[in-house]
Amino acid sequence: MQRVYLDNAATTAIRPEVVDEMANVMKNVFGNPSSTHVFGREAKALIELSRKNIAQRLNVSPAEIYFTSCGTESNNTIIRSCVNDLDVTRIITTDLEHKCVIESIKDIEYRGKAEVIRLNILKNGNIDYQQLEELLKDQSKKTLVSLMHANNEIGNLTDVKYISKLCQENNTLFHTDTVQTVGHYDLDFQDLGVDFASCSAHKIHGPKGAGFLYAKKASHLKALISGGGQERGLRSGTENVYGIVGLSKAFDLALDELDEHVQHIKEIKQYTIQQLQEAIPGVGFNGLSADLDKSLYALLSIKLPFHDALIGFELELAGIAISQGSACSSGAAKVSTVMSTIYNEDEISQMTPLRVSFSYETSKEDIDTLINTLKKIAAKHQLQNA
Ligand code: PLP
Repeated sequence: MQRVYLDNAATTAIRPEVVDEMANVMKNVFGNPSSTHVFGREAKALIELSRKNIAQRLNVSPAEIYFTSCGTESNNTIIRSCVNDLDVTRIITTDLEHKCVIESIKDIEYRGKAEVIRLNILKNGNIDYQQLEELLKDQSKKTLVSLMHANNEIGNLTDVKYISKLCQENNTLFHTDTVQTVGHYDLDFQDLGVDFASCSAHKIHGPKGAGFLYAKKASHLKALISGGGQERGLRSGTENVYGIVGLSKAFDLALDELDEHVQHIKEIKQYTIQQLQEAIPGVGFNGLSADLDKSLYALLSIKLPFHDALIGFELELAGIAISQGSACSSGAAKVSTVMSTIYNEDEISQMTPLRVSFSYETSKEDIDTLINTLKKIAAKHQLQNA
């Protein structure tokens, strides 16, 4: 059976060029970057070249980039250190963040270390910018705003530049989770003005187990993992040299081919929307997902006009790998926080969310397979309801 992969927001296939670059390092450079002899210096040089390259691409200083193991670690380090070391006692965030942000903030709240305010979410999945503006006027507590750049479930984009400005004007720190946008947009962190951001290599056709965090100069973040003092004391542990090299190579390829990929993926997204609308009457899209400019262009969150708790299995049987946009526990589909935030129970009982996420490798044939399968599933529901 032909297999169709439409879950690129979960992870992406590593590019062969990245594998080659990493294999070359694995074969030829094995020194510990902390060793002062030539073997160590060779490894260290690769890390610093990668750091310089990534920093240049983001228009920041290499001293502002710290390598980590993943997006989860980057976000945890930033948020926890803001509270533990930078005197933050109030966090403004939302229920729509990635689990790694939600859980680290919940932990802080549980320990009574900071007051947590979760912004209202509008029906279209956007945050309430006006509420944020109002809240920021209160400067009695040192505040961290933590809002993701692109939502990983519905794709809504946050106006990061606007929020940065607002935070700067109100003496507030701003962290944005850029795991779904680094390598998908040509980001200039200096221009965006954020204090902290995060990246994960496996979302951009790089290796798993490598990522970085961006912390604006003199931010004074402190380590989550302590030990030998690697990464200028912010992240101890012998560095994942080939992972870092792979991350840098993947980032290069993503940005070098960005225009071409954006054009292809936007065409695929538009094609998916059109085909769905023709094939399934009543189909809709969650949040701002169908708007190519206001949402992540590589993601489409579909709202099927019927409830089907088993759709994940049905698609699996047809060889299609897709995420439902809902977490599964014990084999039962559980409604995600995002869906339960933007829809009421009644609406949820009449729809099925599906998150389709594309890459430069996604073809129209892949989409045709998806549409044909969804058409059959929709027909079955029509018959049941006839
Ligand atoms: N933040 C967002 C928005 C994500 O989509 C993900 C991964 O799904 C993460 C953070 C976590 O990244 P990682 O898998 O590298 O820990």
